[in-house]
Formats: sequence, C-alpha cells, structure tokens
Amino acid sequence: MKKCVAYLRMSTDKQEYSIDSQLRLIKAFSERNGYWLMDTYIDEGISGRQAEKRPAFMQMIDDSSKGIFEYVLIYDSSRFARNLEQSIVYKSLLKRNGVSLISITEPIVDEDTSLITDALLGAMNEMYSRKLSKVVKRGMEQKALGNEYFSCAPYGYKKPHKKPLEIIEKEAQVIKIVYQKFMENISPFKIAQELNSLNIKTKRGKCIDKRWVQKVLTNPTYKGYMLWKIEDRVYYKKANHTAIIDENMFDKVQKKYKENKKRIKHKGKPLEYHKHWLTGILRCPVCDTVYVYAKGYMNKSDRFRCGGYVSGRCNVSKSFRVTDLEALIINELYSIIKSEKKYYNLKFTKITTTENTELIIREINQLKKTLSRAKTAYLSEIDTLEEYKENKERIQKQITELENKLAERNQMPTHKELAKNIGNVLEIIESKKNMIIKIKAIKSIIDKITLNGTTGKMLIYFYA
Ligand SMILES: [Zn+2]
Repeated sequence: MKKCVAYLRMSTDKQEYSIDSQLRLIKAFSERNGYWLMDTYIDEGISGRQAEKRPAFMQMIDDSSKGIFEYVLIYDSSRFARNLEQSIVYKSLLKRNGVSLISITEPIVDEDTSLITDALLGAMNEMYSRKLSKVVKRGMEQKALGNEYFSCAPYGYKKPHKKPLEIIEKEAQVIKIVYQKFMENISPFKIAQELNSLNIKTKRGKCIDKRWVQKVLTNPTYKGYMLWKIEDRVYYKKANHTAIIDENMFDKVQKKYKENKKRIKHKGKPLEYHKHWLTGILRCPVCDTVYVYAKGYMNKSDRFRCGGYVSGRCNVSKSFRVTDLEALIINELYSIIKSEKKYYNLKFTKITTTENTELIIREINQLKKTLSRAKTAYLSEIDTLEEYKENKERIQKQITELENKLAERNQMPTHKELAKNIGNVLEIIESKKNMIIKIKAIKSIIDKITLNGTTGKMLIYFYA
C-alpha cells in the first residue's frame, strides 16, 4: 500500500464542497487506487493566500520530513496554494522529502518547478523553511507545556483542564460491559450490535461499530496507563488517572484479542471484498456507508450489502444480487438517455438554487404559447397593432428573464450533454474493459447512488 495523508481546506467560499464531501471523495480515491490514508490535516475557513497562517498545512509540510508518508492527497490544487510562488516552494519542499502531491480531480502536474532556476528555488526554499520552523517550534512548545495527549478524553472519561482524566460513571459501565462480553466469547461485531440496540452512541454521537469496540478493547487508558506518540514512536506508562478495567482483566483481554486475530487471519476473511464498478459509489442512505461486495460461496450469487450493517452500526440487513443491481442501474441510465422528462427530476450534487428547472421550462413554454395566441389575435384583427406590440414586449421580457434564470442555474449539463456522457460511460461498463477503467468511467459522471435497502428507493446523483 502507498502511504498517504490528506490535506483539506475549506475556504470561505460557500459554493464549494464541504470538508466532509472533500474527505469522502479523497477516501474513495485512496481506496480505489491502493493508497493507505494514514492521517488528515484540516484547515477550516482560511484563505489560501495566507498559507503561513494555515497551521494544519504547516504541520503537514513539517511532518513530510519524517518519512511517515509518501503522498499528500488534495481535492484540487487550489487547496494547496493560491499563488504560483507558494505552490512551487511547498511542492519542492515536499519533493525534497520524497513526498508527492496528488490532486484527486486533476492530472498530476508537479513539473512547474522546472519553470524556475535551481539557485532561485534554493533561496526561496530557505526563506520558507525558516518561516516554517518558527511556526512548528511554536506548536511544539505548546505541546510540551500542556498534557496535550489527553486533550481529547476517550469514551468513559472526561478531561478537566490541566488535571488527570476523570471517570464518567455511565460511560464506564459501557466499557465494562464491552470487556465482559468479549471475555464471554461475544465478537466485537455482536457487541456493537447489542450496544446499538440499547441506543448507546460514541462520544461524537455516532453509532457504535466493530472498530470502535476493537479500539476500546485494546486501549490501555482503561487500565490506568497512558499512551502517546511522538513522530512514529509509541510511548506507554502508568498514568495518574483511575482505571476502569483492572490490570489483570485487561491483560487477559489482550491475550484473547491477539489469539482471535491470529485465528481469523488464518481462516481468511469471512467475506471476500471485491472491486466492482459500483463499489465506492453505491451508498446506504440510512447510515451513509458504501455497500460492500460479498463473494457468494459455492453456487450462491455475489451480493452487495450495506457496509454499515457489516460492521454492526446499521440495521438494514437486506443484500442485493450484484447482477440484479447492475441491470437495474444500467436500465435506469438508459432511460435517462431516452427521456428528457426523467432528466428534470435528476439529483445533481452541486445544485445552487432550489427552484425546479422543470417548472421554469414549463413556464417559458406557457409564455411562448401566449405569445403565439397574441399574434393570432392580432392577425385575426381582434387586437390592434399597438396592443399586440405591447403584449409582445411584455411577454418577451418575461421569457428572457426566465431564460436567464435557467442559464444561471444551468451550470449543470444539459440533457443532451448528460445523455452523451452517460452513453460513453455505458459503453465502457458494458465492455470487457478492466474494472479500474469502469470505475473511473462511472466516477467521472456520478457522485453517488443511494439505495435504501428497506424501501428499495434508488437515487442517482450526477456531478453538476
Ligand atoms: Zn446502512
């Protein structure tokens, strides 16, 4: 796997993708292309022009020298720097550290450093490095002053300012249940399901999943230790907060956990995950998780099922035969090509106004009819020329206004354009081309397809 981190920035421009959707797209990209996403650096609401004030960005540049990751993924190059000078300097700093920058929406261009001579580049690098080291040093001093590693207390605890962790009794009970159940041979998946049925949520208010349970089972904070990382080394020592799980029990659980893991590894994954052109695109709208591909055993067919269900945080258990879903979606795409009416009801990911395109078009057509009626009235000498002129001008003005409105919201493709794109994509999907090409093709026009396992309702979200 290629080790990578993501850098995300949300500018004050509200038109663009939120941090969440940028992150979702980056995650999908890294899954598709075999990257291992190790960390994310996020600057929110900061203008790209003042890169030196972007603390997460600076941390990312600084961390790039530690040899932890090889790639930085960004949504587009405007996230990285807004002027050429900064872009060149930071790219070359990354390059020097053996890290490549990858924009998930644009072809890779890191050759603009060749625009500039080595001597000049060296001088610029030095200046920026000095600025950088100041910012980073300040950050490290702050870390040394406070006990920053516990700034965010794990489930079961709270962190009073400048004091050791304190137990939250109600949450501590949940932690104890997790450990007990595990020792009773109940799997993390089942434990997650049970906690969800009791409506217990994580600190961030999310549903419990298998991974959360696994983290709880292996976090030494619960036996009264503290664990922290500096660069890529892990440190571990007895802390001065109260344990929730006694040391003996904790160590037993670790042993059992490791044994289970070995056994599962030996047996191989219970479900085999495959790449399919629908993976990463097909989502469960109930829990907003992608569907996963499960290979059918013996003569059972391959199926798609909500990934949230698989990890224990969603209760939509229905699975779909892969061949059925392929047919359903291909049919739907063909019907969009054929029917203009269908197009007006489509979902676009980046819709700027809420007004319905179909309504505007209907209104325009209505006005055009009125216009031709006015003309008939004039020709059959019902209206005078003056009256007709006046009517014509008024109606024409209304039509122009509506057409402008339509043009404004129509940054989206027209039906004709979309139909052509869908046609191209269908040709690839129905060909014998390899899966990566198919995935790339469908991702070029479709943001996501939601499929509600309970109601069967399907919605395709195209890129605008
Ligand atoms: Zn789900």
